[in-house]
Amino acid sequence: MGRVSNVVGEIRRPGSVRVGRSRVHGRGVFAMIALPGRRKLGELAGRVVPRLGLRRAIRTEPVIYYVALNPRDALDCRDGNAFSHLNHSCEANCYLRVSGLRVEVYSLRPIGVGDELTVDYGVTPHAGGMVCHCGASSCRGRL
Ligand SMILES: [Zn+2]
Repeated sequence: MGRVSNVVGEIRRPGSVRVGRSRVHGRGVFAMIALPGRRKLGELAGRVVPRLGLRRAIRTEPVIYYVALNPRDALDCRDGNAFSHLNHSCEANCYLRVSGLRVEVYSLRPIGVGDELTVDYGVTPHAGGMVCHCGASSCRGRL
């Protein structure tokens, strides 16, 4: 009874971000151009999959590989776009908004060229028990 998977997602302005080595965790997403605040930057690319059996992975993955969309579905971003490398920061400059079966990426404030784009996993289903290395003065220590 498998459901047909949808592939969704886009970066609104190709070339506006790149994936590079992060001081926070592994790889991260960096602005290639100055990005204005409160603007939609694009969407997390991925495949809509059933959440059944993913609960643990959704909560413990250190990067955005799965995002819960609703009680039944998750977005599997393992073959996603650059935004699947968004790291957590307790002083994030971006946030994710679930809209139907899509996960939109918005900037919270202006982001300078070369700055790392981050989201606060504390407001996503990723909240777990991992130590945070974001380095923000307001760091909560765990996520
Ligand atoms: Zn932190």
